[in-house]
Amino acid sequence: MRNNPFSLAGKKALVTGAASGIGQAIALGLAEAGAELLLLGHRGNMEETAARIATAGGQSREVRIDLGDLDQLNRQYEEQIGSERIDILVNNAGIIWREPAAEYDTIKWHEVIDVNLHAVFQLSQLVGKGMLEREQGKIINIASLLSFQGGILVPAYTASKHAVAGLTKALANEWASRNVQVNAIAPGYIATANTKAIREDAARNQSIVSRIPAARWGEASDLAGAAVFLASSASDYVNGHVLAVDGGWLAR
Ligand code: NAP
Repeated sequence: MRNNPFSLAGKKALVTGAASGIGQAIALGLAEAGAELLLLGHRGNMEETAARIATAGGQSREVRIDLGDLDQLNRQYEEQIGSERIDILVNNAGIIWREPAAEYDTIKWHEVIDVNLHAVFQLSQLVGKGMLEREQGKIINIASLLSFQGGILVPAYTASKHAVAGLTKALANEWASRNVQVNAIAPGYIATANTKAIREDAARNQSIVSRIPAARWGEASDLAGAAVFLASSASDYVNGHVLAVDGGWLAR
């Protein structure tokens, strides 16, 4: 292909939660497609992600921001990123808390909603302003199958991920005419730290795998191609879409 529409050469991407799991795999995929990376983490060690990007011939820099501390988010962003140009924002960081709804811990409820929803909106505003001024940008939110379904024992997570799908469409409606594409990826069941507890529950694990048409858990690397597509000019006329990468789960 002479002009590769999937190339991210010359682009700078900010990926949240890039130390592990899906965020790490997406950061690596974007770097392999040519983007320079800002790797946002909180507690996780970013060395492995940075080393894998360097091995692939890419460049990255680490940023430390607690996305659960919304009062400090704007200040931390200003101090560490400021007015730096960002072409691609991947709102990937997310947390989950499992507990029956009747006893659900109020503090945990707020923690999940803060990181999974409020921080996504706040960061989209911070990064989106520059994108709107330049009339170019890509925002990719990491949604979930629980943007469509209710889930079991995870009411805060489900509420947050339904909201992320809605926010994706709301921002897309406002920003599409300014050439900023806002879309989401809904990963299926992916083998990461986030899903360790259900993979270790033999009965639950069996019932999940038996429902997946692809007959296996997804790997974090299964998300990279969709992210590169939504980050690249190949998706310039795709707006407000929630792309399921789920081995066929939702089609069942
Ligand atoms: P993971 O390995 O646990 O990654 C979660 C990431 O979120 C970590 O890198 C963590 O960063 C970051 N994070 C958590 N709290 C943060 C905070 N307060 N401030 C900044 N960063 C914070 O899990 P994952 O499975 O890759 O999850 C990534 C995303 O995919 C999440 O949004 C999740 O809901 C979504 N998802 C996952 C699945 C699945 O099956 N795994 C399915 C659907 C959707 P630090 O380690 O640096 O704290």
